[in-house]
Amino acid sequence: PKETTPERITMKAYDMAKVSEEELDKALKRPSQKSADAIMKIIKPIIDDVRKDGDKAVLAYTHKFEKATSLTSPVIKAPFPESLMQLPAETIKAIDVSFENIRKFHAAQKEDKPLQVETMPGVVCSRFSRPIEAVGLYIPGGTAVLPSTALMLGVPAMVAGCKKIVFASPPRSDGSITPEIVYVAHKVGAESIVLAGGAQAVAAMAYGTESVSKVDKILGPGNQFVTAAKMHVSNDTNAGVGIDMPAGPSEVLVIADKDANPAFVASDLLSQAEHGVDSQVVLIGVDLDEKKLLDIEDELHRQAMALPRVDIVRGSIAHSVTVLVKTVEEAMRISNKYAPEHLILQLRDAEKVVDLVMNAGSVFIGEWTPESVGDYSAGVNHSLPTYGYAKQYSGVNLGSFVKHITSSNLTAEGLRNVGDAVMQLAKVEELEAHRRAVSIRIEHMNR
Ligand code: NAD
Repeated sequence: PKETTPERITMKAYDMAKVSEEELDKALKRPSQKSADAIMKIIKPIIDDVRKDGDKAVLAYTHKFEKATSLTSPVIKAPFPESLMQLPAETIKAIDVSFENIRKFHAAQKEDKPLQVETMPGVVCSRFSRPIEAVGLYIPGGTAVLPSTALMLGVPAMVAGCKKIVFASPPRSDGSITPEIVYVAHKVGAESIVLAGGAQAVAAMAYGTESVSKVDKILGPGNQFVTAAKMHVSNDTNAGVGIDMPAGPSEVLVIADKDANPAFVASDLLSQAEHGVDSQVVLIGVDLDEKKLLDIEDELHRQAMALPRVDIVRGSIAHSVTVLVKTVEEAMRISNKYAPEHLILQLRDAEKVVDLVMNAGSVFIGEWTPESVGDYSAGVNHSLPTYGYAKQYSGVNLGSFVKHITSSNLTAEGLRNVGDAVMQLAKVEELEAHRRAVSIRIEHMNR
């Protein structure tokens, strides 16, 4: 590792020519989170209270956590009054542009017609999709304004045709809700907004209360209390509710070569680093000379110092790293192992490198594609797997809001063709009724 001075905002650099794979793995470990057990102990009683006391419990927790003591009902129902969505024209325009791009991209993910395959003559298998009927969309933060998360969850739910869309978001201390969120809820046709956060909001949507509608699936990011509550309710068969994916702090991995613009690279690293102190950013430099690396480091420091959230940046940069490699292939090997939520390719011929991507939430290709465009307005979704879960999870997409149902349809000839295989396997498994369901029909045909 290279020397770093305390005041300078800089990431520790590891040269793959000098460090072992183990050292690299250690350097790329995500910042650890609070023990799941400790969080579970906190949220379990909250969930139990909401199940037992419904609205009364939800309100009491909102009074406690959000200090919104004037709030008398935990829900506002559509149609939402105009007075709750008063916004500057430029904000409305920005939401409308983003809404339309997200709608277009997610609408294109619709399957036109059911998939149908005749596996044997007379044996037809099909698969078709249906929307999940009721979804609960969690939009984090009482203090932060997150209309983008409302869009990223609400628009695909609308496009998928979910009948009931419920928003939940912690209110501000005066009991009001961010007008941007109300406007998005209105645009996607949400039936209600639950004015609550954390485990109480999750429990209310999972089990339903007097005024909160029970949903079939809960999606959306949030802090550790939200995530733990989602995991908890999804494990409870009494709730019968699904969730999107485990969520952790946001992260980005940037791969840059000699041609990359140092200012662009630094700005991308910082746009992730400002999310929170637990965020991690990684730069993989491909065949960079000393001067180029120094230019990037200088830019990082200079731009960071000018940011309003410089203190958060200091925290996240402290556990962020630069890795130096010789080839793009080596860079991609490391990136695929890390499985970043966001992958930025600031490379010559970046488009070609996409073929090498095996694990990533979302990829940003070339110097004119900062991650921010995907965070807000390009059309791709920003609810993505973090913490290495990109190895097995996809980000939120239209498929997150539908179920796939399969069907089989056989003719008499089809049953004759496949019958022997079914009866033999039923015999092996000693399930006689299964075998007979076929033999009875074959005998009937032979009569
Ligand atoms: P949040 O809405 O996730 O959580 C607020 C709730 O946390 C409160 O309503 C309360 O119920 C609960 N809570 C807080 N302290 C508690 C305690 N001691 N015991 C029990 N419950 C407690 O809002 P947040 O806390 O501001 O966190 C936002 C999270 O969302 C961050 O972790 C951030 O990384 C994430 N985030 C994600 C995106 C995204 O992917 N779109 C964007 C921004 C933020």
